[in-house]
Amino acid sequence: MNGQKVNYQKELEKVLNRLEKEQKVPALLIHSCCAPCSSYVLEYLSRYFRITVFYYNPNIYPESEYTKRILEQQNLIRRMEFKHPVSFLAGKYDKEKFYAMSEGMEDMKEGGARCMKCYELRLREAAEQARAGGFDYFTTTLSISPMKNAQKLNEIGVRLGQEYGVGYLISDFKKKNGYKRSIELSREYGLYRQDYCGCVFSMREREEQKRQEGKSGAGILKGRKPAADKSAQSLS
Ligand code: SF4
Repeated sequence: MNGQKVNYQKELEKVLNRLEKEQKVPALLIHSCCAPCSSYVLEYLSRYFRITVFYYNPNIYPESEYTKRILEQQNLIRRMEFKHPVSFLAGKYDKEKFYAMSEGMEDMKEGGARCMKCYELRLREAAEQARAGGFDYFTTTLSISPMKNAQKLNEIGVRLGQEYGVGYLISDFKKKNGYKRSIELSREYGLYRQDYCGCVFSMREREEQKRQEGKSGAGILKGRKPAADKSAQSLS
């Protein structure tokens, strides 16, 4: 992809069309950051794949938040209906790995170099699991968020896919109203939706934004796109 502008949604559609023609239902490991982000992705991709949702998010702080998000993820899988089976796999809560990775980058803003490393940390574990489990493909729900860099996610995923010998399913799930649909599904299932990305640094950044908004009386998050649903302003 080498920095060229790629329409990742179109590329994904090509893969899905080919699978349909070949009448294949491959095994896909999806790294999921949270239930709301996964809702649309599961609705969309479970028509084409046998899915295992892989919950590996050592970035999340505090532990109570981690527990909340993982339970909500399991709860959603139990409640949704799918054409092909969807199962769940919990990764380790490797907090030390995340803090070792982010050392020296604690003060960076969301979207900077720390986040690229954070994507890679989670995708690398997903690639390892996909190889160990004999999956045909792996991917992540992260590209659904307007706050996430789809190009970087796809570049990292494709590179790791080559390293681990497992196909990376490229995506930009926010396209085709994917983000909007995830908000609708979150509302329909009454999902818990966090208002910060996940790590302690993003939590502090969010708190600071709220303080600033309080001072200026602004209702819209600085640096964040206003969400369609004001009760749930951020996806991880
Ligand atoms: S802001 Fe989000 S993506 Fe960036 S390091 Fe923190 S948890 Fe990871």
